[in-house]
Amino acid sequence: MRSSRQLRALVKPPKAPAKLKREAKYAAYIRSAAWKKLRLAVFERDGFRCTAVHRVQTVLSFLGEALPMGRPRLRRCLFVDETRTGAGLVADHTTYARFGHENLEDVRTLCRSCNALLTKQTRANWANR
Ligand SMILES: [Zn+2]
Repeated sequence: MRSSRQLRALVKPPKAPAKLKREAKYAAYIRSAAWKKLRLAVFERDGFRCTAVHRVQTVLSFLGEALPMGRPRLRRCLFVDETRTGAGLVADHTTYARFGHENLEDVRTLCRSCNALLTKQTRANWANR
């Protein structure tokens, strides 16, 4: 009989070396002083406010609630980090084209909930391709 760990190894293929290398590079950069400085500059530019705008239908669907009929309505997230420390905020790459030497415009401020929602949406979009 196989252990659950062995079974999981069968289901989940090991990551390719290139992917592991990319992830290690990403993790190292995210811990760097350069990224921490840029992250804070992005939060300051955005006034420590989440910049996410959602279709109301998407949010309700994420929460498992019934969707209203009609035209999609947009709702801006109202989260503000009053402490202005970046607690509860995420600096989100809108492009990885200049990863490691980003322009300020390549990164936006999101709150943790919007980041989770948008990450889930992006993954679902990729899976449905
Ligand atoms: Zn938000």
